[in-house]
Amino acid sequence: MNVLVTAGPTREPIDPVRFISNRSSGRMGYAVAEAALRAGHQVRLISGPVALEPPAGATRRRVTTAAEMLAAVQRNLGWCDVLVMAAAVADWRPAHPARHKLKKRDGPPRITWEPTPDILKAIAPRKQCHQVFCGFAAETAALAREARRKLREKNLDALAANDVSKSDRGFESGRNALTVYLADGRSRRIRLADKSECGRRLVAILEKIAAKKS
Ligand code: C5P
Repeated sequence: MNVLVTAGPTREPIDPVRFISNRSSGRMGYAVAEAALRAGHQVRLISGPVALEPPAGATRRRVTTAAEMLAAVQRNLGWCDVLVMAAAVADWRPAHPARHKLKKRDGPPRITWEPTPDILKAIAPRKQCHQVFCGFAAETAALAREARRKLREKNLDALAANDVSKSDRGFESGRNALTVYLADGRSRRIRLADKSECGRRLVAILEKIAAKKS
């Protein structure tokens, strides 16, 4: 299968030297890419700014902003059988990033925010019958309800939800625990384990969904 994985945060510029971003390390997405490679799949990785080397055998396209990530996903959409959106895309961006560095002496800036493009929502109309789309959700409360809503709204086959309110997993951790909500109403639990193991388990779940669709 051809597996397209997005990983890491996006950075949205405030001015030429400042940005808004989030705590994503990219490790979960890179682990999924590695697991898919090891399972014998072709892998393309679209990565926000992270301090990780791409797994050997994957092609990596580096992007910075949500808009760049959307464009890269759109370019690779026709190629993929499976899309795993593990990237922590920023939700908002400054509507008018300053062309020159904002000066401290001018005081705290008033920033007007606008939503970033929702990549999964934007590509949903182009989804082909055989394609499997998997999202990720980092939540601190009402995990199941939020996950099911996102699964529906983004027209996904699977949504891997993790509870980021716990310090032993998720952001900036080597370990994770996931509940994978499926479009047929069922869910699968991936217990607390190294992200590489979580990646392997998730790839196995997605392979099964893809096999049922073909
Ligand atoms: O941010 P949210 O919780 O809605 O993210 C859920 C899923 O949607 C993730 O897979 C994320 O990569 C994706 N997403 C996206 N475009 C955004 C925000 C999130 O595709 N602007």
